Amino acid sequence: MEKKGEDKKIDYEKTIIHLHNVTKHYEMGDNVVKAVDGISIDIQRGDFVAVMGPSGSGKSTSMNLIGSLDMPTHGHIFLDGEDISLLNESELAQIRGKNIGFIFQQFNLIPTLTVKENVVLPMTLQGISEYEREEKAEKILRRLELADRMDHYPNQISGGQQQRVAIARALANDPEVILADEPTGNLDTKTGLKVMDFLTELNKEGRTIVLVTHSPELAKQYAHTVYWLKDGKIERITKERKNAFEKVGKWKGD
Ligand code: ADP
Ligand code: MG
Repeated sequence: MEKKGEDKKIDYEKTIIHLHNVTKHYEMGDNVVKAVDGISIDIQRGDFVAVMGPSGSGKSTSMNLIGSLDMPTHGHIFLDGEDISLLNESELAQIRGKNIGFIFQQFNLIPTLTVKENVVLPMTLQGISEYEREEKAEKILRRLELADRMDHYPNQISGGQQQRVAIARALANDPEVILADEPTGNLDTKTGLKVMDFLTELNKEGRTIVLVTHSPELAKQYAHTVYWLKDGKIERITKERKNAFEKVGKWKGD
């Protein structure tokens, strides 16, 4: 039986990210915008989770909270068992960088860096040798079929290729969790499917995927657990198949 509220015991063997009664409010003059309005989310290790909702329902705000990129107005966020409000900036950056990879709709690559340099960048913050960084970036880029684009700049490759670079960058520190905010939003259907297939492959390895999408079809087709968001609140949670944790056990990295 699940207990309610503060009593609820979280099993951090199984839960990688936990949001407890989280709100994000923005003061706009006399108005308060309740972008996220009291949500509790358990991201289980190995799951493929979708956060689904129409435009303006609070998906991107939720993703920023789930990824510890943003602090909540109320409530608590636990990342790998740590209450993030108790960590300083550098501790938080370290634990986030190690555990979570981000993919965005607009790719968010650095235009003045080559493909390879974009993938190397997150590793420079985690204290790995230069040789190791280059080797690893090349290995990941080969996996994403970008071996012949490593020295190109983002504006010299297609949108689909840019998103694959963004996936490679997200994988740089071998994170347990991948957060993807509308990753296929700027891609044509065929290219988008390739990105979704790749996320599925990463999930089958035991990585946890959180997909933010406005498409119920995409959510239902790919995710095992779907949080249905409306006006900053969770309307319902639906579960499909078993998640990868139950199949392969705790993620141990490459
Ligand atoms: P979604 O990603 O589902 O489209 P968002 O999380 O971006 O929704 O936004 C949810 C609501 O919060 C929207 O009404 C949006 O206008 C508002 N909002 C988001 N960010 C801010 C901000 N920085 N300041 C004020 N309002 C914001
Ligand atoms: Mg959004």
